Amino acid sequence: MNVNQSAPPVPPYGQPQPVYPGYHQSSYGGQPGSTAPPNTYGVYNGPVPGYQQTPPPGVSRAPPSSGVPPASTAQVPCGQGAYGQFGQGDVQNGPSSTVQMQRLPGSQPFGSAPLAPVVSQPAVLQPYGPPPTSAQVTAQLAGMQISGSVTPAPPPSGLGYGPPTSLAPASGSFPNAGLYGSCPQGQAPPLSQAQGHSGAQPPQRSAPQQASSFTPQASGGPRMPSMTGPLLPGQSFGGPPVNQPNHVSSPPPPQAPHPGTQMAGPPGPPPSMHSSQQQGYQLQQNGSFGPARGPQPNYGSPYPGAPAFGSQPGPPQSLPPKRLDPDAIPSPQLNELPPQQKTRHRIDPDAIPSPIQVIEDDRNNRGSEPFVTGVRGQVPPLVTTNFLVKDQGNASPRYIRCTSYNIPCTSDMAKQAQVPLAAVIKPLARLPPEEASPYLVDHGESGPLRCNRCKAYMCPFMQFVEGGRRFQCCFCSCINDVPPQYFQHLDHTGKRVDAYDRPELSLGSYEFLATVDYCKNNKFPSPPAFIFMIDVSYNAIRSGLVRLLCEELKSLLDFLPREGGAEESAIRVGFVTYNKVLHFYNVKSSLAQPQMMVVSDVADMFVPLLDGFLVNVNESRAVIISLLDQIPEMFADTRETETVFAPVIQAGMEALKAAECAGKLFIFHTSLPIAEAPGKLKNRDDRKLINTDKEKTLFQPQTGAYQALAKECVAQGCCVDLFLFPNQYVDVATLSVVPQLTGGSVYKYTCFQVENDQERFMSDLRRDVEKVVGFDAVMRVRTSTGIRAVDFFGAFYMSNTTDVELAGLDGEKTVTVEFKHDDRLNEESGAILQCALLYTSCAGQRRLRIHNLALNCCTQLADLYRNCETDTLINYMAKFAYRGVLNSPVKTVRDTLITQCAQILACYRKNCASPSSAGQLILPECMKLLPVYLNCVLKSDVLQPGAEVTTDDRAYVRQLVTSMDVAETNVFFYPRLLPLTKSPIESTTEPPAIRASEERLSNGDIYLLENGLNLFIWVGAGVQQGVVQSLFSVSSFSQITSGLSILPVLDNPLSKKVRGLIDSLRAQRSRYMKLIVVKQEDKLEMLFKHFLVEDKSLSGGASYVDFLCHMHKEIRQLLS
Ligand SMILES: [Zn+2]
Repeated sequence: MNVNQSAPPVPPYGQPQPVYPGYHQSSYGGQPGSTAPPNTYGVYNGPVPGYQQTPPPGVSRAPPSSGVPPASTAQVPCGQGAYGQFGQGDVQNGPSSTVQMQRLPGSQPFGSAPLAPVVSQPAVLQPYGPPPTSAQVTAQLAGMQISGSVTPAPPPSGLGYGPPTSLAPASGSFPNAGLYGSCPQGQAPPLSQAQGHSGAQPPQRSAPQQASSFTPQASGGPRMPSMTGPLLPGQSFGGPPVNQPNHVSSPPPPQAPHPGTQMAGPPGPPPSMHSSQQQGYQLQQNGSFGPARGPQPNYGSPYPGAPAFGSQPGPPQSLPPKRLDPDAIPSPQLNELPPQQKTRHRIDPDAIPSPIQVIEDDRNNRGSEPFVTGVRGQVPPLVTTNFLVKDQGNASPRYIRCTSYNIPCTSDMAKQAQVPLAAVIKPLARLPPEEASPYLVDHGESGPLRCNRCKAYMCPFMQFVEGGRRFQCCFCSCINDVPPQYFQHLDHTGKRVDAYDRPELSLGSYEFLATVDYCKNNKFPSPPAFIFMIDVSYNAIRSGLVRLLCEELKSLLDFLPREGGAEESAIRVGFVTYNKVLHFYNVKSSLAQPQMMVVSDVADMFVPLLDGFLVNVNESRAVIISLLDQIPEMFADTRETETVFAPVIQAGMEALKAAECAGKLFIFHTSLPIAEAPGKLKNRDDRKLINTDKEKTLFQPQTGAYQALAKECVAQGCCVDLFLFPNQYVDVATLSVVPQLTGGSVYKYTCFQVENDQERFMSDLRRDVEKVVGFDAVMRVRTSTGIRAVDFFGAFYMSNTTDVELAGLDGEKTVTVEFKHDDRLNEESGAILQCALLYTSCAGQRRLRIHNLALNCCTQLADLYRNCETDTLINYMAKFAYRGVLNSPVKTVRDTLITQCAQILACYRKNCASPSSAGQLILPECMKLLPVYLNCVLKSDVLQPGAEVTTDDRAYVRQLVTSMDVAETNVFFYPRLLPLTKSPIESTTEPPAIRASEERLSNGDIYLLENGLNLFIWVGAGVQQGVVQSLFSVSSFSQITSGLSILPVLDNPLSKKVRGLIDSLRAQRSRYMKLIVVKQEDKLEMLFKHFLVEDKSLSGGASYVDFLCHMHKEIRQLLS
């Protein structure tokens, strides 16, 4: 495949440089790089001194993003202006406009008129890539009221979906509920509705049945928790239900629809009369949600009543196939659906788009072939699909994922669609062993070749001209001379003959060895150092933490990251302990015993020793071991309960500064730092602020001291990883500021107890110490003319509008970048992104890692909607929202998300979908999971906390999500639920997941649920005794210990299989997931139900079905 195929057409080269006909010179000014001196080679992102420039404190992000964003016509008034101000506690650098919401102009009468004509979507625009996927999920949803305030029919009994009050424990009765922390002891809210699963167990539905749209509803049993039970007045589940589920998504050949043969059941007359259809929806339009409606006039047959449910033909083949291109299909077909499906009173959860099915389909369709990156604008397989990547000129999706791989050509189009244009970038992503790490290219003293004007690095999209003597920049169109040593002849296609010998000419990702010009102070860096800083106050000693940690460190020090085949790590280590004062240790190899030096002047922190503080582990091993043996003893009798925190960071940073190296601080901390010192904090937790305008203060740091400190750390390349062991409120929002701004990580072990939490802490620590980190990094994202990076999300610091500064960056962290138009894009040339990360490797080598990605551009909205990636969209939207809560009331943030989602879908409906009844909810194929996933974000703990969620938990999750990759947000918001006892015990494959809803649970089975942070095993009350025995080594259900966190090691196939599965799930995630065993109807079950995200949540979050209806209503409002 020709990696250059997307490069701009070769211009007439004989021309003098400055003026290039056909290229938009005028837009150079908008290029990010244009501010850099146009003449210097080898200077990264402009002058090196920029590195140490220290902007005024509290500097807010300047123009491009702080002005009125071009994309919005109306801004939700929510605290804009506070963005980007570090003084405000914003760790981000976003635009002042937090929210850009735009109601579609109401000029398109919709409602009662037939839909607007379909925009033609010439399929030829996409002659490559995966088949277009725009099957429309149509769902006819009747008017169901849904909102946080409306409580849909409470189930009559037992399913645990009662109104919050029926279950909600008084706040505090569920302390440290273990969702993020680990104190399952003593929580125990009474579960008031107990009979749930026992007697009338709903018929279990297994995954395969999802393929049928309307599974016979045996007896109307309580199988739909949120929908069952008597309908409340004013609440109707009636009306035409969802009628074209997503399960028609097995991969039929593109353009295949032949509706005549695919209709299930009686081929009801296709209702082509829109007017008649509307009758069924008038109620909705009026906002009246009366009792279940009768026959839908246009459905051809009277409402048959419940019996019809039982006679639903549901086999998948009876349904219309996936419609890969709805717009290639004459419009009436949409309505040629099995009429009986339109006449149900309830929305069958099986009939609405299923995440499980979508994931399954993608695995089946795309898991077998490697994803080859040579084609521009190709949407990669989902993050949940296992696939290999072959780099043929574009960066692997492991490094960059985009919300859309086809960008609207104009900002008007982008505004209309409201689809955020963003890339989630994980520059140092770890690759599976089958995939090669990026090649390291060494250009010697001359350094990497760059564009003189915009400073972009040589990449496969650069166009060589004039026989190879010059190249034209694919980002800014500047013509550059090729240095003599880099010259090479071109072949007849204009390609350099050595293209495939040079990674930078043929691959999407590669590294350059940096020259001294790219180094701070024009000096090559020293290897980094790790400093372990251990809280030795009373709580830390008493919990056993200090002893455990010191013991573990002895062996961990042999696993410091090393480069390539190096025998030992180049990283030096140092040790500090502290409570109200700091103790430094001299562990020089020549000493017989370590020496302690106490610094009690915490207000003016200095490092009392240079020589002997940072040492090589192997050289000083004996002294270090001796120290680690002594620390627990030295402080065994401490009565000191108070701690400091900011001085600890300061000390570590000063030590690195004195050693002239970058590095990482590992801080193990237990309590709110109330001792008199800089950064002293007070307990300001106040749950009464929830749902008030002041709620945002709970997420903001309570002092600006930590931002200032973070800035110093970043300048020094000092990354801070924080391990918290709180017994009560520690103000995570404030303590995590420095880790967040330095690219570090925060771990939290609430109510730490050695016996319960040892495994998790040790595992996390081991992984954290061992992981490869790039230090003292700067990242810049360059774009081709027409779009530019305007906003950034993640754990980093920015002192200007373009350079993302990362004191440290590991292989798990992402930086999310949002793009906006600043000019018109060109379909032919597409759009190109180049992410350049300058960093110091663990061995102290200065390098540049380059990732390139070319995207398509479109003039038809349908092409945008065909090439979106919902998982990435959700990742972006969650980060956007989670940053929004720093400055806006949480409700505003939620409303903004809902509106944006509705706008995205309404725009599709209006411009891309075939005309159909307004009563149909039509979702673009690529986005059919947008509502369900968005609902999960909306009801997440940050945006809609339950009573058991603490302020610290929320702050903790908020900062975690900020740098999550797409796979992590995917499972975090929509947990994976696996039946453990359904598949044959011999089967070696992972059991197929089921949807995260209580109705999918059978009381005769055992399930595992994980979301990347938490891991549950749920045991049904009716599980066979033999199974209980095999797994838990007790004779009956009642003897299983609720809250158990370790499964007994038993020598039988089931036990081995389940423990093996847990191990493999843990290995897949970046953090150790502690297991909690939950028994059906046990008090702990509430914890577990929190993660059944398709159900209505106790904190008031809508069920999936309800939310879909709500979304439909919003869309209709936008279109009417
Ligand atoms: Zn350029």
